[in-house]
Amino acid sequence: MVTTSDTRAAAPLRTCIGCRQQRPQSNLVRCVVGPHGATVSRTAAGRGAWLCSSTCFHTAGRRKAFDRAWKQSVHPDALQPLEHALRIAFDDLIINMEELPTVGVANDEPAATKG
Ligand SMILES: [Zn+2]
Repeated sequence: MVTTSDTRAAAPLRTCIGCRQQRPQSNLVRCVVGPHGATVSRTAAGRGAWLCSSTCFHTAGRRKAFDRAWKQSVHPDALQPLEHALRIAFDDLIINMEELPTVGVANDEPAATKG
């Protein structure tokens, strides 16, 4: 059993809407829905839906987690532009995360790369 208590981290924790795991805000990407649809932004006003990976984006879409996060019904079509923006955002995130020491190795993730 590995505990992931990081006493030095002052970053607020957010829950990924895909895997429901709490992670530091800096390790997650925030999605908001605005008048022109869903977008990736840390600063935009509105309800945030936090995601830790592209996998969780798809999981969240299937589970209608965006509906809950944004308190409105979300069409799958509305999420499509998000996928591309998320890919870019996660690329940035991974680059930034590689500069940090790894804390708590997640071993329970399926290694299957389908699709
Ligand atoms: Zn996740």
